[in-house]
Amino acid sequence: MKRLMAFLRGHRLWAGLAATLLPLVLLVWLQYRWLSRLEDMSTIAHRAALDNALDAIGNETRYFYLANAERLLNVPASIFIDAHLEEVVHLWEKRPIEGARLFVVDFTREPFGRYLSYEPVTHSLGTMLGGDEALAIIVAATPWQLVIRAGGTIRPVFDVNERDPDHRMILNPIVDPKGQLVGLAGMVLDEQYFRDVLLPQTIERTLAKLLPESRRDVVVSVRDTRGNDILPPPVNATGETVSRRIPFVFSDWTMTLHGGASAPERWARASFVVNMALALLVAAALAGGIFLTLRAADRAVALSQLKSEFVSNVSHELRTPLASIRVFAELLRLGRVTSPVKVQEYGDAIEGESRRLSRLVDNILDFSRIESGRKTYRFEPTDLRTVAAAALHSFDVRLRHDGFTVHVDSPPELPLVEADPEALGQALANLLDNAIKYSEDTRELRVRLGSSEGEVTVAVTDQGIGIARADHAKIFERFHRVGTGLVHDVKGSGLGLGIVAHIIAAHRGRVTVDSEPGRGSTFTIRLPAAGRPLPETA
Ligand code: ADP
Repeated sequence: MKRLMAFLRGHRLWAGLAATLLPLVLLVWLQYRWLSRLEDMSTIAHRAALDNALDAIGNETRYFYLANAERLLNVPASIFIDAHLEEVVHLWEKRPIEGARLFVVDFTREPFGRYLSYEPVTHSLGTMLGGDEALAIIVAATPWQLVIRAGGTIRPVFDVNERDPDHRMILNPIVDPKGQLVGLAGMVLDEQYFRDVLLPQTIERTLAKLLPESRRDVVVSVRDTRGNDILPPPVNATGETVSRRIPFVFSDWTMTLHGGASAPERWARASFVVNMALALLVAAALAGGIFLTLRAADRAVALSQLKSEFVSNVSHELRTPLASIRVFAELLRLGRVTSPVKVQEYGDAIEGESRRLSRLVDNILDFSRIESGRKTYRFEPTDLRTVAAAALHSFDVRLRHDGFTVHVDSPPELPLVEADPEALGQALANLLDNAIKYSEDTRELRVRLGSSEGEVTVAVTDQGIGIARADHAKIFERFHRVGTGLVHDVKGSGLGLGIVAHIIAAHRGRVTVDSEPGRGSTFTIRLPAAGRPLPETA
């Protein structure tokens, strides 16, 4: 458990990211499930709507013919029995009908029956004199005659006879109270009326009633069994289709409903895609935001750790020179030291330690100025040789005391640089301080000045512990110190190189490091040679 906690603390960023991303991924996955469900449901709902529409069209046509049959074909048996067939005219003249021709067949008179057709204009009955239609009616009536001959009883229900597709008819057997067939009342359906008037009107009315405005681009086509188009299908039909036989009459015709261009399954797909894309976008934005926040938090935590390390480092840095100064000063005050050489030595030590303290305090003050953006520079044409000499001079005592050999390669001529001599001196001092601090047995320093391609350079080389390549970039960050304790025990604030980098950047220059562990280090500052304009402050 402890190990896990330690691991999580060590990988705060990833742990935090995993903890927030997992629910996010879950959320997106759920969204995906719901949206695809919704898509399926919309498709099913659409199919159901199309099915309903087609059923409704069929029912409407059935109702039209059934209602007319009820209205007109329920002729009383008495007019056959009493031979008052013309009474049927009174019945029909009051109730005009479109799309069908009416007729009666009387089985009570002649051996083969009497066939009379109704003339709607003159409201009269006339004997059928032949022709296709008369023939078709006779053919349709024949089976009923056979029933009479056989003496069977009849159930008075409508009979749809479509054996001859050119003469479809609805027949109503008329029976006397004893159940004996006395005649037929019938209508021959007008195919043209059905095709050109009734069907298109019914389709239009039903679709308008059942489908919302956005889906009115559906088309109904009708085809007969021989494959002839009664109502043609749309030219480039796409999308969902549903088909049905027309019920009751014209039952060999098939209606097909074409879903149309704005088919809802396409809407459903589009909505799925758009919604999913939105969800992913939001999730990505959220994940990005979370990542940035976590990273900022992680950095803040790391920085606060570095800062507390910094405080402890600085305290140590302050305490050591102060203690030495106190001891040496006390010895001098008590007059215990008589030899002038010793006095000189102690004086040197006190001076060296105070310089270290000053540099530390300067660094801390500079750092706070840099952080708050108050650091200013006063640029002037500057000879880097003078700056380097002054910086080296301030380390004289310490270098001598610690037994360093110092080489200075300085060319007789060096272009001036536009620089703030004080700031530059501080940068160099920081590099020299590090070179001394991080040298072990080989105590050798080299300061090399030079110029090339419009740049003036100053390089500080030591033969010290060196720096691993992975740390080269990091050491210029504030507070950053190479693996304290493991690599070296030298104390420091972690500010020195950060300040160097800032000062050199303000001079539009660069500072680079060339170093390997155990092989020493070279820090090189490159500054543009004077002649280019430089800012007053940075
Ligand atoms: P510090 O106060 O710790 O010296 P710096 O910013 O000056 O802070 O340096 C950052 C780190 O870079 C140091 O802690 C040290 O590990 C490494 N470093 C700097 N200069 C040298 C050098 N000349 N040789 C070896 N390591 C160095």
